[in-house]
Amino acid sequence: MIPVNELARGFKLYQKEYEDRALEVLRSGWYILGRQMTSFEEEFAAALGEDCDCAGVDNGLDAIWLGLRAAGIGAGDEVIVQANGYIATMLGIMNCGATPVFVEPDEYYQLDADAIKKAVTERTKAVMVTHLYGQATRMDRICDECRHLGLMLFEDCAQSHFASFKGVNTGLFGKASFFSFYPTKNLGAFGDAGAVVSKDSAITDAVRILRNYGSDRRYHNIDIGYNMRLDEMQAGLLRVRLSHMEELIANRRHIADRYLNEMKNPKVELPKTAEGCSHTWYQFIVRVDDRKAFMDHMKNEGVATDISWETPPYLQPCMMEKFGYGPGSFPVTEDICAHIVTLPMMEYMEEDEITKVIEAVNAF
Ligand SMILES: *Cc1c(COP(=O)(O)O)cnc(C)c1O
Repeated sequence: MIPVNELARGFKLYQKEYEDRALEVLRSGWYILGRQMTSFEEEFAAALGEDCDCAGVDNGLDAIWLGLRAAGIGAGDEVIVQANGYIATMLGIMNCGATPVFVEPDEYYQLDADAIKKAVTERTKAVMVTHLYGQATRMDRICDECRHLGLMLFEDCAQSHFASFKGVNTGLFGKASFFSFYPTKNLGAFGDAGAVVSKDSAITDAVRILRNYGSDRRYHNIDIGYNMRLDEMQAGLLRVRLSHMEELIANRRHIADRYLNEMKNPKVELPKTAEGCSHTWYQFIVRVDDRKAFMDHMKNEGVATDISWETPPYLQPCMMEKFGYGPGSFPVTEDICAHIVTLPMMEYMEEDEITKVIEAVNAF
């Protein structure tokens, strides 16, 4: 069976470098808030673009929570998000006391600039874009809309490392952006890790304090903080993976190009990429009317598939109780969630595996 993803492949690609780095960290005698973390922060910020700063944290959800809190988002504030986004984005907003307000996505599954105006209330403080599945969102009109309406703009880049809009990397458009390095992500660690990126170092400096008990120097606490630090082992291993990002993304693009060129089945709608938006193919998502029959067929052909995700966040029990949304609240989102299928996309796939996935799709 060809899996949807297999993390051991990513490890084996650069096994020796990972093992050397792990030993280096183990032997260093320094495991929290050290040289690996500060080096990773510098290297990741430099790779993303000029004049941005990066503060490492313990995971993507906490990056959202701390980053929003550092930017002053709190109780009573509303933050506009796309209804088909990931629940962690909404939880990050809710953990700092604010309320997510949902809107329908565009045909690329991304936040729709036209939806912002309709969702604004006097409590709206910010818009949170999630560049879903690895494709950059069309940012020009969203940036204009936020400027026009006086809203802060944030980006959830947990799926979009190095995807760009008109040549600018995602994560550099708003007040702050949030990265996850969960192992499956394109820049993945070997455990939990995340980061806040901002061009405003007041935000990243506040995150550095909040992640470490609210402490600005040793045994001196100026804020009610957390323990949300990026550890040395994950930071060290992330530096190895970061140094190979170009080839890893090129490899995903090769797989996606073959899928897009060679899959020819009118029953299977291929993903579209918007003009000016680059795609780094965190996931390759197709749309099929009869999803169950398609997934059964693929399984019989020896190809695993997945759904990310079947239930939109606002229909999860914890959200329905809180906000009173129900089935039918967002029909476009519910239609997406009822028909999307995730095809195998991983580093690294053999050519004959790619061919097998294509043939299985074409045979449906
Ligand atoms: C993975 C992910 C997160 C959460 O990241 P964790 O590191 O797992 O906490 C947040 N938002 C999106 C869009 C994600 O894909």
